[in-house]
Parts: sequence; C-alpha cells; structure tokens
Amino acid sequence: MHEYSNRDSKEYGGLITTDGKLIILPNKENSLESVAWPAGNQWRDQQNRVLVTLFQEKGVWKVELYDWTLNNGQGGILETLEVMGMVHTHPTGTSPYNGLSYDTFNPSQDDINIMSSFPGLRQYIITGTNDFEFNMNGPIEKSSLPNCQ
Ligand SMILES: [Zn+2]
Repeated sequence: MHEYSNRDSKEYGGLITTDGKLIILPNKENSLESVAWPAGNQWRDQQNRVLVTLFQEKGVWKVELYDWTLNNGQGGILETLEVMGMVHTHPTGTSPYNGLSYDTFNPSQDDINIMSSFPGLRQYIITGTNDFEFNMNGPIEKSSLPNCQ
C-alpha cells in the first residue's frame, strides 16, 4: 500500500476487516498529505457510482463492496464484511512544497478529528518503515499492524 502511495505521490486509505483483509479505498480525492474520508462514508468511481460503503449496524462497523458488472451490468453488492480498523499511508522524506520533513510518525490533527467520527475502529498509519496504531493521544507505543491479505 505504501508502494502505491509512493508511485502516485498520494496518500492511500484502507479498511481492515475482522477476518484480516485489507480493502484499499479509491483515492481520487486524496492528496500527497491527506486522505479524503468522504461524506456519507461512500467511495465512488470516476463515473460517480458507489464502490464502497462503510456503515455501522448494531454497533458493528461493516463495509459493503459493490460490483457494477453484476446483474447484467445493473450492479449489486459483491460482499459485506465486518471492519475492525482504518489505515492510511503517510509520506516519508521532505515535502516538495516547503522543503520541510513530513511529520510521518505522528497522526495529524485531521487524523485525530476524523477518528472521532469512527468510534470503535482502530486507527493505523503505514509509513513503509515503521507502521503504527494511534489514538486521540498520538501514536501507541509498540503497536503494530495486524497481518492482512
Ligand atoms: Zn495521516
């Protein structure tokens, strides 16, 4: 995921399912230094069709994945999975805009604000060298990402 991020010079966001899958989210709204978590928690494709919906049901976070080739092109739900966490990448090195080093190993104020909209989900940051979990107070010591496929 961090390799994609480097390739595109954009942050990537993803969801980690309870059964250990990583769902990489569409990133057309993301930038080098931020991930867009869209209103309504729906991610869309270039034709504005919903690809992914994140929602809470009886306190459990779930994700619906759509496939627009199903039902003779009418589209439909491919899969619904339980979600345990969110993850996004951070750039490493120096910003081309201001020449300063990125604050790679800390959540941004935006990251902390955003996590409060997703109570109960664990929050992870992938840096390529030192991946970590964070909470409202910052990085969690000695944390690491679950193994995902
Ligand atoms: Zn961040």
